[in-house]
Amino acid sequence: MIDFLSLKAVNRQYREELLEACAEVIDSGWYIAGKALERFEANFAAYCGVGHCIGVANGLDALTLTLKAWKQLGRLSDGDEVIVPANTYIASVLAITESGLVPVFVEPDVATFNLDPQAVREAITGKTKVILPVHLYGKIADMPAINAIAQAFGLLVLEDSAQAHGASIDDKRTGSWGDASGFSFYPGKNLGALGDGGAITTDDPELANVLRALRNYGSHEKYKNLYAGVNSRLDEIQAAMLDVKLKYLDDEIRRRQYIAHRYATGIENADISLPVNEIAARHVWHLYVVRTSRREALQAHLGALGIQTLVHYPIPPHKQQAYAIYNHLSLPITERIHDEVLSLPVDPTMGAEAIQTVIDACNSFKRS
Ligand SMILES: *Cc1c(COP(=O)(O)O)cnc(C)c1O
Repeated sequence: MIDFLSLKAVNRQYREELLEACAEVIDSGWYIAGKALERFEANFAAYCGVGHCIGVANGLDALTLTLKAWKQLGRLSDGDEVIVPANTYIASVLAITESGLVPVFVEPDVATFNLDPQAVREAITGKTKVILPVHLYGKIADMPAINAIAQAFGLLVLEDSAQAHGASIDDKRTGSWGDASGFSFYPGKNLGALGDGGAITTDDPELANVLRALRNYGSHEKYKNLYAGVNSRLDEIQAAMLDVKLKYLDDEIRRRQYIAHRYATGIENADISLPVNEIAARHVWHLYVVRTSRREALQAHLGALGIQTLVHYPIPPHKQQAYAIYNHLSLPITERIHDEVLSLPVDPTMGAEAIQTVIDACNSFKRS
């Protein structure tokens, strides 16, 4: 059996160091907002190449609290529009609606699965205030083009970097392109905690300051509340786990890139379209997503050969029951993507034999 992603195998690599870091937190007697959080925030800010990192409870909160902080700072108000790729994971959209803002869904570029700058430009109205690019599947969006549009129209840029820690263009990493960026450390993400976690990165000290209060009941100083905040903190124990794993993130990315390279050069089947990868951008392969008009058949074929695959995602946000008000929208590129995508295993601990088994299985998938 080839697992889609064995978190057990991934974390076993660092078992001794994780246990040691765990013991340090236990023995410190300090479990929230202490030295482990401070250390991880400093290290992750440095990794992304920005001045500030603010740890929060999860990736959804990272995005939501950033939008709410911009409201507190008077940069956004209720009803402002946020441009978002229609094929994203629903969390990007939930952050917008939870903040009292309006999502404007745009069709992605079918080759990259990412925001199409031309479609962004066409979606701008007098109410547009934010562009929210999602570095989907680990591939960084066309940030130079998106930032140029934002600058021309005076818009804020919030990156959804939940799937793309360490992805870059010209060595400039996700987390440093937008006015702010939301990260998730959900266990299955490329940098995963042993539980929930998230963070915002930014170079804006004012925004960082408001976020530090918002995550903590709206308070910088105990029992003095500036804002109606929330409780969304990154625990010491998770910060300590993440600090251990951050050291190995680039090694894991190189493993993922190697697996993707093997797939790209080994899989040859006219019924399976492989993801594109321009050399200039460093894709971190959170997911290796192929497209086929016969997805159910391919998934069954691979499953019969002991290979676990997943669909990211079967239903786009605008077709969800939760967003009945958007169900009438017709977004054919997005809907086709959701009908055709299949994610092959990309596990940094995968051996050569497992990689070859996936390649052979894809190549033996026959036209019906
Ligand atoms: C995982 C994910 C999120 C949300 O992160 P959580 O930590 O699960 O809240 C947001 N956006 C995208 C694109 C994601 O993949």
